[in-house]
Amino acid sequence: MAEDCIFCKIVAREIPAEVVAESEHTLAFRDINPKAPVHVLVVPKVHQPDAASLAQAEPQVAAELLAQTRAIATQEGYEDYNLVFNTGAGAGQTVFHAHVHLLAGVDVSKLFLA
Ligand code: AMP
Repeated sequence: MAEDCIFCKIVAREIPAEVVAESEHTLAFRDINPKAPVHVLVVPKVHQPDAASLAQAEPQVAAELLAQTRAIATQEGYEDYNLVFNTGAGAGQTVFHAHVHLLAGVDVSKLFLA
């Protein structure tokens, strides 16, 4: 657990969050400031600063995290969804504990790619 890491504190249940799923190495909870009808953050329980660091240090956990996203989307009633990994402050990352945004109910790709 990293000092002063808000997601480590959520994983440790030291601060509250609306948890929607848990697996051996991941926890998923609703984003406090949702940008879509479903906006869930899936985080590894282990502290890594971003998704790239996680993939390098703990590839099995990164794979587990990715697998969790489809299961959670299905659980939330969506077949189609977007995944966003903000990586680095210049790309909008504000919490430096690896996480993926799972967004469903809005086609995020239209915002960036259309
Ligand atoms: P990012 O900008 O990719 O680092 O995303 C961090 C996300 O964490 C933002 O969408 C915030 O709304 C969300 N967030 C910050 N604090 C909390 C919290 N205590 N519970 C749930 N989501 C949070």
